[in-house]
Amino acid sequence: MNLKSLIRDVPNFPKEGILFRDMSPLLQNPEALDFVSKNLVKNVDLAKIDYFAGIESRGFILAAHMAATHKKGFLPIRKAGKLPPPTQRVSYALEYGSAEIELPLGKGNVMIVDDVLATGGTLKAAIDVSHAAGYNVEAVAVLVNLTFLNQMKFKNAEVMSLVQY
Ligand code: 5GP
Repeated sequence: MNLKSLIRDVPNFPKEGILFRDMSPLLQNPEALDFVSKNLVKNVDLAKIDYFAGIESRGFILAAHMAATHKKGFLPIRKAGKLPPPTQRVSYALEYGSAEIELPLGKGNVMIVDDVLATGGTLKAAIDVSHAAGYNVEAVAVLVNLTFLNQMKFKNAEVMSLVQY
């Protein structure tokens, strides 16, 4: 399936000079969603996965769809301050300033899912907060990897992706 044809390029969004990859057309296509859910786990032993953990907010859509497809649980990795306690929080650096994400405390094996990997800061923080909250990170996947932006190495975690730019 040609997923790139279902990802729209939006120049100068959300800021001047940024080329935003918009996956809305893909989300509107049930066959494409099904394809993504099934193919992002191609190298994953599903017997070892308890939860699909989605990163707010587009990661929620993919992770929840994968959880339903593969009959697993869903976990939200959210911007800080939205989840009721008990949670674990980590902060991480952004290009300008910093951000915090949060996850309910728990245990079990998670597969972390997001829509786009850019610099890798968000995904690295998601891995860190999952460990800190008590989970084992079994697998990590994104729909789109903007490979030219991320030089960051993910310790012990290969990041799967279905579309690369
Ligand atoms: P990073 O932390 O890797 O620099 O940025 C990744 C986060 O920013 C992801 O959660 C993703 O949703 C968002 N993001 C960055 N660039 C894009 C883009 O071009 N398209 C979309 N849809 N999200 C992006």
